[in-house]
Amino acid sequence: MTAQDTIRARARELLENGEVTTFIGWESGRFENQTTPLVITDASDADKLVCNEYCVNTLAKYARDVVTRGKVGMVVRGCDSRGIVRLINDQVINREDVYLIGVGCAGVRDRKTGELLKKCAECRHGDPVICDEMAGDAAGRPQPSERFKEVHEVELMTQPERSRYFEGVYAKCIRCYACRDVCPCCTCRECFVDQRRENWVGKQNNVAENRFYSLTRVMHIADRCIECGECERACPMGLPLMKLNRKVIKDLNDLFGEFESSMTLDEEPGKLITYDLVDCEEFM
Ligand code: SF4
Ligand code: SF4
Ligand code: SF4
Repeated sequence: MTAQDTIRARARELLENGEVTTFIGWESGRFENQTTPLVITDASDADKLVCNEYCVNTLAKYARDVVTRGKVGMVVRGCDSRGIVRLINDQVINREDVYLIGVGCAGVRDRKTGELLKKCAECRHGDPVICDEMAGDAAGRPQPSERFKEVHEVELMTQPERSRYFEGVYAKCIRCYACRDVCPCCTCRECFVDQRRENWVGKQNNVAENRFYSLTRVMHIADRCIECGECERACPMGLPLMKLNRKVIKDLNDLFGEFESSMTLDEEPGKLITYDLVDCEEFM
């Protein structure tokens, strides 16, 4: 029995037995090797579910809104499961709101080129960090050798070079907010960029205001980012968003000791929302 067969069978059972009200997975898309997220409430739709190397979307963010309908069943790989841990640890959902069917993941591929996605080449945890049952075996994929390779490249630039580089990045941003919408850490019901108050945040599409948006978002999620790479994958302008995310994560690792967010349900509170007398204050 393949993992996909198990997922279909278990989704059907869970919905039929009323153990979940909704099930989240993927279905085949309109194009060859394309899939899209699928939310079903009827057991007869379970055979639409697919699980293959083209399931590029992570699913965790969908749970935020769907749990209002009752308990949710869903498929989780490493990235999806860490997104769920994030939502639980941020008290957006409860552990008992979700029933998690884990699948081991060796990475997903671009539907046109067949190449492993960048986010998967950089992924450190392909197997679920939490689940209620597994569909198939863990993948046990090897971790990439260097977590902060891209950051080192940026750090080697001179300050003016860095400035020019990031201005070029912010100049291309079209403020579509896809990066925010896919992010399992961006769970505010009303995001700061949607505030209508005058002078709260600039809405114009220019380098200064795009920079303000991007840096504010990076700092909002700095100690919670699960490094899933979804923001960078979803960006229609191809902006290298993980460079900045990982720069901040690397700095936090240097300042507060090595950590990875959202690996367990009992993780310590975020580094930026706690205070300790021995915290580094070299910038003061
Ligand atoms: S980020 Fe990791 S867990 Fe998620 S799809 Fe890619 S390899 Fe799999
Ligand atoms: S990698 Fe991007 S989408 Fe994923 S948690 Fe971090 S900021 Fe959010
Ligand atoms: S997804 Fe890309 S273009 Fe859209 S707001 Fe985010 S950085 Fe800008």
